[in-house]
Amino acid sequence: TNRTFTMIKPDAVENGHIGAILEKITASGFRIVALKLTQMTVADAKEFYAVHSERPFYGELVEFMSRGPIVAAILEKENAVEDFRTLIGATNPADAAEGTIRKLYATSLGENAVHGSDSDENAAIEGAFHFSGRELF
Ligand code: ATP
Repeated sequence: TNRTFTMIKPDAVENGHIGAILEKITASGFRIVALKLTQMTVADAKEFYAVHSERPFYGELVEFMSRGPIVAAILEKENAVEDFRTLIGATNPADAAEGTIRKLYATSLGENAVHGSDSDENAAIEGAFHFSGRELF
């Protein structure tokens, strides 16, 4: 068993998809270890996405991710990182498989409804960015 970190991004929160996305996540066998509605400041988003700081879309990404509330969560399941990336689908919803969260709920390549950690190491770093020990169950 291991863990991944996710965010329901501002577009999906604005569009009223929190409940449907959490239902799909739990129905797919993930246990919710930590969960909250929160908002990243511009500084938070810059730090969270620092790995993309040289990419042309960095400014747009930081502005988007800080513009409204998100749902942050830590999820537990065997093979959590890989299975969650499969559940959310390709980065661009136009390329995402049928039934994936991005296919169902994403707006565009930039505003793509959900984040999923890409490695166990990043899952731990990203989870710790948003949650303290007492918030984990
Ligand atoms: P995430 O890290 O959010 O799970 P990902 O791993 O599928 O997404 P990355 O390549 O790490 O995709 O990009 C991080 C995020 O940056 C994407 O989810 C998307 O919101 C945004 N993004 C990526 N490429 C572009 C682009 N070409 N134009 C605008 N935004 C982009």
